[in-house]
Amino acid sequence: MSDVEFIETTKVYDDGTVALDSLSLRVRKGEFLVLLGPSGCGKSTALRLLAGLEDITRGEIRIGGSRVNDLPPGARGLGMVFQSYALYPHMTVRANLAFGLRRNRGDTRVSEAEISARVEEATELLDLRKVLEKKPRELSGGQQQRVAIGRALVRRPKVLLMDEPLSNLDARLRNRMRFELRRLHEAHGTTTLYVTHDQVEAMTLADRVAIISEGRLQQSSRPLEAYNRPANSFVASFLGTPAMNLIEGAAERGVFTAGELSFALPEHLAGWTGPGIFGVRPEDVRIGESGDVRCRVGGVEHLGSDSIYHLDAGGNWIRALWHRSGGGAAGSDGEEHRDVRVDLAVPSALIFKE
Ligand code: ADP
Repeated sequence: MSDVEFIETTKVYDDGTVALDSLSLRVRKGEFLVLLGPSGCGKSTALRLLAGLEDITRGEIRIGGSRVNDLPPGARGLGMVFQSYALYPHMTVRANLAFGLRRNRGDTRVSEAEISARVEEATELLDLRKVLEKKPRELSGGQQQRVAIGRALVRRPKVLLMDEPLSNLDARLRNRMRFELRRLHEAHGTTTLYVTHDQVEAMTLADRVAIISEGRLQQSSRPLEAYNRPANSFVASFLGTPAMNLIEGAAERGVFTAGELSFALPEHLAGWTGPGIFGVRPEDVRIGESGDVRCRVGGVEHLGSDSIYHLDAGGNWIRALWHRSGGGAAGSDGEEHRDVRVDLAVPSALIFKE
């Protein structure tokens, strides 16, 4: 059963902007789905439509099998965590956690005993015991974010929505929180939709990643599958640092040509004829004495464990990633302005129509 379903969901804003263009996507129960794409591609719009904060222009959204298009936000059973935590500054962490539950009235009223039990559970899960009696301003960014997550979780949402929840944190804390979020998801198992433009977050957090460009879904698959078998050159270039090398050209009789660059395609691509975009990951480009592409080293970025070689191959720039412990031939030869040879016809190479 899918917990959330977008069916040809479209959002056109009043000024004519098509923010989301016929999105069809299912999120399974218990799944951690990441909506990934560059800024402005429509990720937050998808989340806001699901939350009921915006009206849907066309199409449908279902939660737990029921159409929710006309349901007010409060009736959708969702928990939300956004970039800004918006904790109540005058309340302790404990009170912040309980506040949303105390507001419930009528059928949804939660007893004080139940509130205590849920707050206790969130405290344990999110490691908040030491800060329970503190006010938000006395907490670190990471602790505040954990409280914000706890506040969403105590409501036992059917679906948890998170929109760039880590983007206000510094790099180290972000790395730690990323790890914690994954651990947390494994512990509580709530169906989660998570929006980010950060491909590392997507790769590490997601059970499945849905990659969006200009309001359109490009691919939805397990992260490694999207990395290894991208559906098109957009996905290929969006996942991976440094980005995949993409060379626009054309193939004929097993030879790929792009301007002055020409090389034999690997066996699995040799049947391709006509225009195409050849793609090879920087980590798969081997620099050495052999290889049928001659290039000049234009520059090297040394990052510590890795070095990125920028190679000029007949007017096409190719990036090669050399990893220190890899012990490969790359790196040992490549000084700036030297001529080297690379082999692009590797088994992992891809070719795209668009
Ligand atoms: P993302 O979350 O991927 O950064 P958004 O979903 O926020 O992108 O926005 C998608 C597109 O819709 C962008 O072009 C944005 O400028 C536009 N947009 C967002 N909100 C509105 C609005 N209220 N009115 C008009 N255009 C909007």
